[in-house]
Amino acid sequence: MNTIGHWVGGRAVAGTSGRTAPVFDPARGLQTGEVALASAAEVGDIVKVAVDASVGWGASPSSHRAGMLFRLRELLDAHRDELAAIVTSEHGKVFEDAQGEVARGLECVEFACGVPHLLKGEHSSEVSRGVDVHTVLQPVGAVVGITPFNFPVMVPLWMLANALACGNAFVLKPSEKDPSAALVLAELVQRAGFPDGVFNVVHGDAEAVDALLTHADVDAVSFVGSTAVARHVYETGTAHGKRVQALGGAKNHMVVLADADIDAAADAAISAAYGSAGERCMAISVLVAVGPVADPLVDAIAARIPDVVVGPGNQPTSMMGPLITAEHRDRVRSYIERAPDEGATVVVDGTAAASGDGFFVGCSLVDGVEPGMRVYDDEIFGPVLSVVRVANFDDALALVNANPYGNGVALFTRDGGAARRFEREVQVGMVGINVPIPVPVASHSFGGWKASLFGDTTMYGPEGIHFYTRPKVVTSRWPDPATSVIDLGFRSNT
Ligand code: NAD
Repeated sequence: MNTIGHWVGGRAVAGTSGRTAPVFDPARGLQTGEVALASAAEVGDIVKVAVDASVGWGASPSSHRAGMLFRLRELLDAHRDELAAIVTSEHGKVFEDAQGEVARGLECVEFACGVPHLLKGEHSSEVSRGVDVHTVLQPVGAVVGITPFNFPVMVPLWMLANALACGNAFVLKPSEKDPSAALVLAELVQRAGFPDGVFNVVHGDAEAVDALLTHADVDAVSFVGSTAVARHVYETGTAHGKRVQALGGAKNHMVVLADADIDAAADAAISAAYGSAGERCMAISVLVAVGPVADPLVDAIAARIPDVVVGPGNQPTSMMGPLITAEHRDRVRSYIERAPDEGATVVVDGTAAASGDGFFVGCSLVDGVEPGMRVYDDEIFGPVLSVVRVANFDDALALVNANPYGNGVALFTRDGGAARRFEREVQVGMVGINVPIPVPVASHSFGGWKASLFGDTTMYGPEGIHFYTRPKVVTSRWPDPATSVIDLGFRSNT
């Protein structure tokens, strides 16, 4: 049995806790290995390595760090397909989708290559007589990234690119469900020339996470995962004096107004609901059909579902792969099975769509869904699209705004006025206008509102630079000794 270990101080290190978790190929339903689960003591050793490395790295010139990020960018580019294949084998998403994940992560490294520009700070000359002020953006220290299973390459790169660029040492705690990609990232960071200990990987479960959250020498924690764990990470991390950003779960709505193009909206709904088997935090899981659009739109989506080929992610014909685990497959199925009891109508039932031992569920479409039904209220994180029928624009907006999550939302319309009002009034962090999955590019930042984000800073882009730096404000004066006087007053600036 292949046992996946940690990466500490520039080399692979076996786990010593004696605890492991199984790793599967979800397309075959087969266990392919196991991953070490770190103890609190192992976590302590790894944090110490990161703290020691952070001192020299944080003092290094930003141009030096940028040079390494450029090399990392080239190495990631050269290893795109290797990374994507590992993602497909452990996560299950189709290879092309995995290539897209790597590409979006790589864009975050490209953004971070501009770090000398991003760390310029501000300068004000002559704010008072003979007095200048400037800000210095310094690293935070030893920082931690805790990541979910659904983007095992992209989400770590959201964090580590800016964290390293800003001069921090980084400890990655990847999902134990698809742990291998993190070790390839570690090797590429090493080959790019980053000093030993600046990037480390610790595998583990709640024990390792809690040890990181309570460790006195961890300065900041970035988390992406489900809302329950995000809340726990935020509350525990901040209670222990850390800077924390914790991105949580989602229930993303796609509102289709009566003037929208039905075919274009149906294509977008299929892509956004069933891509990556619905295991994206920005997946569309609720279609809000406004007025007369409902019947033709449901028909158009149902007519397209048979064209979605479900199969192993490494087969070129597959459009949608399996879910991550057998437990998750059974949980997703349970929502489809229970929907009629809740009063909804299952238009397309994907529970029996796939055969074999893989963790497959086919595309499912549930109509007549309303708040209060579990199929609406819960984040299902599978290929299940619920349809909520509403009478008008105001009802659609009110539905979206009443939802506890606020990650992503999309509006499909040809009405610019409605789009503008939606954009201004919707209580969601990332909004798509005729764009079903509005993941911001790397030069902007990613994060939701409400139960989708705990903390004040969103992730990557300029907000990522903000999160991974501490500002220092320097006020300086170079007086002529001949004019020096004692003055016990509080100086005004005029
Ligand atoms: P998860 O919350 O189960 O796990 C995320 C991380 O937390 C993993 O590293 C895991 O080991 C750790 N963890 C799990 N349970 C823990 C516990 N009790 N205590 C401490 N640590 C724990 O999430 P997941 O199933 O890996 O990922 C899917 C979830 O992530 C979905 O809810 C999805 O919406 C969310 N997600 C959100 C975003 C976003 O940007 N908002 C992006 C991707 C995924």
